[in-house]
Amino acid sequence: MNAGRSVWIEIFNALNSLELKSLEEPIYLFRQFFKKPLECLTLAYYLPQNAGDIARKYIKDPQLLSFIDAECFIVSTVNALQTPMINASMVLCDRHFGGINYPVGGVGEIAKSLAKGLMDQGSEIIYKANVTSIIVDHGKAVGVRLSDGRELFAKTIISNATRWDTFGKLLKGEDLPREEESFQKLYVKAPSFLSIHMGVKADVLPPDTDCHHFVLENDWTYLENSYGSIFLSIPTVLDSSLAPEGHHILHIFTTCSIEDWEGLSLKDYKAKKDLVADEIISRLEEKLFPGLKSSIVFKEVGTPKTHRRYLARDSGTYGPMPRRTPKGLLGMPFNTTAVDGLYCVGDSCFPGQGVIAVAFSGVMCAHRVAADIGLEKKSPVLDAALLRLLGWFRTLA
Ligand SMILES: Cc1cc2nc3c(=O)[nH]c(=O)nc-3n(C[C@H](O)[C@H](O)[C@H](O)COP(=O)(O)OP(=O)(O)OC[C@H]3O[C@@H](n4cnc5c(N)ncnc54)[C@H](O)[C@@H]3O)c2cc1C
Repeated sequence: MNAGRSVWIEIFNALNSLELKSLEEPIYLFRQFFKKPLECLTLAYYLPQNAGDIARKYIKDPQLLSFIDAECFIVSTVNALQTPMINASMVLCDRHFGGINYPVGGVGEIAKSLAKGLMDQGSEIIYKANVTSIIVDHGKAVGVRLSDGRELFAKTIISNATRWDTFGKLLKGEDLPREEESFQKLYVKAPSFLSIHMGVKADVLPPDTDCHHFVLENDWTYLENSYGSIFLSIPTVLDSSLAPEGHHILHIFTTCSIEDWEGLSLKDYKAKKDLVADEIISRLEEKLFPGLKSSIVFKEVGTPKTHRRYLARDSGTYGPMPRRTPKGLLGMPFNTTAVDGLYCVGDSCFPGQGVIAVAFSGVMCAHRVAADIGLEKKSPVLDAALLRLLGWFRTLA
């Protein structure tokens, strides 16, 4: 067990010791390698491996292995055998080194701070702007078209939509590039979520209630089933300013697919939302908080269709999920794409889902773009060689 734990920590420390920038930028990669060769080799060694295989090397207790499956599922919506070791280490260690930090005022404060940072640097953010297509001229992405008909042009286009949306919807009339075909062969869309946001009377929660809960009542084998496990966060335990005095906020969610919610009339859709939410709340009432139902003062239910509508994510997906056991992160695409001038960021790019991972994907992309527009040193010869090498690595995934 201790040996297993030291592997997580080894990876986490290696990640922490490096200046994390674009893995598609060879000059930076060489520099990092000469500064920290052991750490780079450690990460390269674990890159094609999964958490479940490594856990099974050191741990034999089936219950503990199931627990590690559940820990990985919480991050990736798949068990440990399908979760890349680097992702698992990043998330599991981050929880324990320095503990969890919660933004006062709610998670929306992070987005507000990022927006303020961009504006302070002279950027403009256009809200309520729905991109319906990426404009391509002679094979180069040159702009975007909005649903109100406006067209915006730029040297560089970066899509934060999922790769399914970027290549399936926004690039109209373009053939799917070979690289994207390979990505879609390796990864499928993970299911979405049913989310319940509730306001409850504070006295229904025992005084020592924690913020985060993961409920898997009966059987480890239900872990990956739709509605099989329940996630619950109570942010007001940490920040009481989020709710009126004497109340708490509960965010309850469970995995489910959009197929479950399609083909229903509005009346049936609403009735199904009430029914499914009621069942989930009953399970929490039984397991954690007796009297929960009668304490509810506000309730709003979202389905995978809600995720699709408000986040513009195909099928409301949580992100990419390996079609079969992956070779760690080897098959994950980075930020450049086969379309000149078009880059992708977000959870369908390396290293995958989660706020830490997508923030890293953003930093990587910014670095690669900076090199391509001449703000950072670059070598076209080395760039071409590295891109070919990375493409070849992906064929091994
Ligand atoms: C219920 C739930 C709980 C989660 N809990 C955690 C957690 O505790 N910790 C954690 O680390 N991660 C968590 N995650 C995962 C994390 O939220 C995601 O991995 C992350 O937000 C993905 O970031 P992204 O930028 O790739 O995509 P998104 O967050 O989906 O952002 C993409 C943005 O692009 C916009 N967009 C898309 N298409 C268009 C278009 N055509 N025109 C204009 N705008 C467009 C969308 O509106 C959206 O704002 C959770 C996810 C869910 C659903």
